[in-house]
Order: sequence, then C-alpha cells, then structure tokens
Amino acid sequence: MSFSSLGLSESLLKVIQQQNYTKPFPIQAQAIPVALQGRDVLGIAQTGSGKTMSFVLPILELLRKASPSRNRHVGALVLVPTRELAIQVEEVVRLFSAALSERIKSLAVYGGVSINPQMIKMQGVEILVATPGRLLDLVSSNAVSLSEVRMLVLDEADKMLNLGFRDEMADIFKLLPEKRQNLLFSATLSKEVLNLNEILLYDPVVVKVEAQEQNLDNITQLAYYVTPERKGPLLRYLIDQENMEQVLIFVSETMRADAVVVKLRQNGIKAVALHGKLSQGARTRALADFKEGRITALVATDLASRGIDIEYLPYVINYELPRSPKDYIHRIGRTGRAEAPGTAISLVCEEDRHHFKVIQKKMGRWVNFTYTDDINLQGF
Ligand code: AMP
Repeated sequence: MSFSSLGLSESLLKVIQQQNYTKPFPIQAQAIPVALQGRDVLGIAQTGSGKTMSFVLPILELLRKASPSRNRHVGALVLVPTRELAIQVEEVVRLFSAALSERIKSLAVYGGVSINPQMIKMQGVEILVATPGRLLDLVSSNAVSLSEVRMLVLDEADKMLNLGFRDEMADIFKLLPEKRQNLLFSATLSKEVLNLNEILLYDPVVVKVEAQEQNLDNITQLAYYVTPERKGPLLRYLIDQENMEQVLIFVSETMRADAVVVKLRQNGIKAVALHGKLSQGARTRALADFKEGRITALVATDLASRGIDIEYLPYVINYELPRSPKDYIHRIGRTGRAEAPGTAISLVCEEDRHHFKVIQKKMGRWVNFTYTDDINLQGF
C-alpha cells in the first residue's frame, strides 16, 4: 500500500514525500479512502497511530473542491479535548494546506487565553480546530457560526467524554447542520463512545487498528527498584549515565513536577515543568523548547501531557507510576513511535511493587527489574 493509491492529489502527496513518510500507517490506509468518498468513519486508534493525517487530508481534499463557506461560517470543525492537541492538529492542517493552490485558512481556538485575538482571526477561517468550551463562547459572541459545517471531526472522543465535555458537545451538535460528514476517533470503544457513535454517525465505516501492540515492540522497558529518598539522585544518575538528551519524565502531581525540575536544574540539567497550573504561553513554550532540543528534560503530569507529540522521543521515565495500566501504556507509547526504538524506565519503590505487577499483567509483558542499592549515587 502506498500513499499514491489512496486517492489524494499531487500537491498533498508532495508534502507527504517531503515529510519522508514512505507508507501510510494502517489507520491512514483504511480511513482516508472511505473518508474521501464522503462516508462517516469511526476510527479506533491510539495517539501515535497517525490518525491526525487520516482526517486532515480528506478534509483538505474535500474542501478544496467545495465552494468556500460564507465569512465566519466554517466548513470543517475539529473538536479536541486539550489546547495542546488543538495547536498540534492545526499545525498539521497548515503544513498541508500551504501546499494547495486554493487558500484554505485554519485556526486553533482554545480556552485559557484571551478570546479577542481569536475572534479577530476568525475572519475567513475554513477549518476550525477547537476545544468545546471556547467554541461555544465564540459562537455566542457571534464570532463564528456552525450552520455550514460540512465535516465534523471528534478527535480523542473517549477523552473528551472523560474530561466532562458531554454537555458542551450536546450543545455544539445542536448548532450543526443535519447533513454533514462525521469522522470520530477514539483510543477505546467505551460505552460512552458507542452511544456517541449512535447519535452522531450515519452508517459508519469502522476502522480499528491495534497500534498498542505494534508500538510496544519498539520500546525497551526497564524498571529500577529504589527507595523514595534515592529516587531523585537515581533519576539524575540515569540521565547522566545514558547521556540522555531528550527525556520526558512523568510525575503524579503539579507540585512534584516543579520540585523535580528545581533539583534537575540545581544539577545542571536543563529542565522545564509542564502542568495544568501554567499559563498557556508557558505550556506552549515548554513544549516547543523540548521538541526543538533546547531543554533536556520535560517533567509532566498526565493531564498536561495529553497530546504531546514528538516524533523521535528516545526516553520516557516514570518518576512516579500512573494509577492505571492504560495510562502506563499511554505514557510509554510516547517513545518508540514512527518505528524508532525507545526506552521507557520506571522508578519503583517498595510500596509500588504490587501496583507495578498489576500494570505488567494487564499489559501482558514483564519488565526487567534492576536493584539499585549498589549504585553509588554520591554527587547526584
Ligand atoms: P498522530 O497519531 O496523528 O499524532 O501521529 C503520530 C506521529 O506519526 C506524528 O509525529 C506524525 O508525524 C507521524 N506520522 C504520521 N503518519 C506517518 C506515516 N505514514 N509515516 C511515518 N510517520 C507518520
């Protein structure tokens, strides 16, 4: 299967080539042709499976052939759960739309920042990527109308339902025209997502990819058994020993993220925190600095890390274990993407041992354990 057999136009294929994407990921190979036919799609796929392009390319392909929407009436609406994801998805839209001869303007809108600049930028926007709350604010300020939406995408629908956007989404659905194409993507097919599917989709083509298994094969998983007092020094020792240049470190709460960052910096390691208490500007900057290699360690909480998308991230460290096995897989899945190998390290204390066993059992893999009592951590 090649990209050129999917029914995409030359200008989009050119961008794909420039990006060095040699062949479509399974979700792309399956979803793009049916989306191009105008069918509804229910895609079951993880973050990292390549689902963004599965909806961005059909949207561009279909909108470029359609007559433009009236001003402040968007033609395509992509709903996402977080600001980070909104920004990332819109970047992918822009990357591809820039190559088209038709001018298709896109915009990401999300809460936590002032609404006025977003209202001004809405002029002429054809593809809107939005978090639900801010979208409704913009609609009630008459900055945008959804009455001409031809294509609706729900990205990470399961997370949107978890994060409690249900009522807002119901309000949004009421504003949409009945006749439209729907593309719904979710990592899991939960009861809520199935219900959503029933009210939203018309005779959808269901596309399911088992990205999880594939991804785990590329990841070397290690666990270090350590006492709580030695966790910090061990973290710095590992970063030093492995010459880590880009490492994503997970912690369980905001305050811990800040504390770990302080210690890393005291030890000469360039580190930044990413958590929900930071301003949007600070979060965007932290991510950009990390992606572009200006900092070594990004210390993140689970919620803030949603949607972090880095192509070749070599290391993920669980400074603290996540509560659920699903989150563990989601965290370590940030490395070992795009077929590049990665390493996921978990720091495990006595009190976590049982929980870590549960995680491994659920994952169906056993992780190599190293005892660290003999490691001399003096100076770290
Ligand atoms: P996504 O699941 O859409 O967030 O994509 C995950 C990552 O895979 C992104 O960094 C994309 O740039 C990359 N990617 C998407 N499609 C392909 C492809 N066909 N070949 C290689 N990398 C890809």
